[in-house]
Amino acid sequence: MAVTSKKFQIGGAKMCKKTVLFRIAGFLFFLVSGCAVNPITGEEQFMLIPESQELEIGQAYAPEIEKQMGGRIPNEAVQAYIDSVGQRVARVSHRPDIQYHFMALGHKTINAFALPGGYIFITKGMLEKLNNESELAGVLAHETTHVVARHAAEAMSRQIGIQLLLAAAVSSTNSAAAAQAADVAQQIIGLQFSKENEREADLVGMQYMVDAGYDPRGMVETMQMLERENEAAPIDFLSSHPSPQNRITYLTGRIESRYSNAKGLKVGSEEYRRAALDRLPK
Ligand SMILES: [Zn+2]
Repeated sequence: MAVTSKKFQIGGAKMCKKTVLFRIAGFLFFLVSGCAVNPITGEEQFMLIPESQELEIGQAYAPEIEKQMGGRIPNEAVQAYIDSVGQRVARVSHRPDIQYHFMALGHKTINAFALPGGYIFITKGMLEKLNNESELAGVLAHETTHVVARHAAEAMSRQIGIQLLLAAAVSSTNSAAAAQAADVAQQIIGLQFSKENEREADLVGMQYMVDAGYDPRGMVETMQMLERENEAAPIDFLSSHPSPQNRITYLTGRIESRYSNAKGLKVGSEEYRRAALDRLPK
């Protein structure tokens, strides 16, 4: 389950009127609603960001993240396809009421990440390495779980600081604030989750895949791909995840114990080739 940090981290921003106000507002908020219920486990978790602010943060940083990760792939059919697979998974999640946005970005690195509030990104570098729709569903289900379990919100409040996040998000009118927003976006891209969060995102994400009608072996295939690619050239974000080999072991075990009798689940090699691979820009 999600890490429940008791630290109230202050961001590294210089003290000014605005940050003081945010600190006061943040502290008041902490007093009235410092606890939320983890929608997956039903247990209380310490959380500094309420749902309305999750959305605010997602909306504020999504454009900056897009810009830094190569922009949206300029093909609406590809975007619609990625979004449709993501929506299918999100509908069966524990937080189906969030308005999710799944987007394909043009960056060459192999990566996928999530912002609080339901903004989920996958790079061209990752899309090129996938072979079928169930593998795509696995990646998007993993990221959806980070949103559902509030891992993204929790990690951001702990590693970046809620005051800095909100301050940079609301004040993009001057160049110093814009530079700060760009810097925060960089930190978001490099956000580290705990290994427990990653494991939860894998196992709960696998359940979402199956509930959405996808073959769970797609997630294992993606891990195998990551392992191969990581051997050829180390992949940055993997350093914060359990090793691919470890993930393959627990995911394969989960398939055997829970899903071995599942029938008629979708792999979707042909669909993925036509709807994504053939249309990706060179
Ligand atoms: Zn993850």
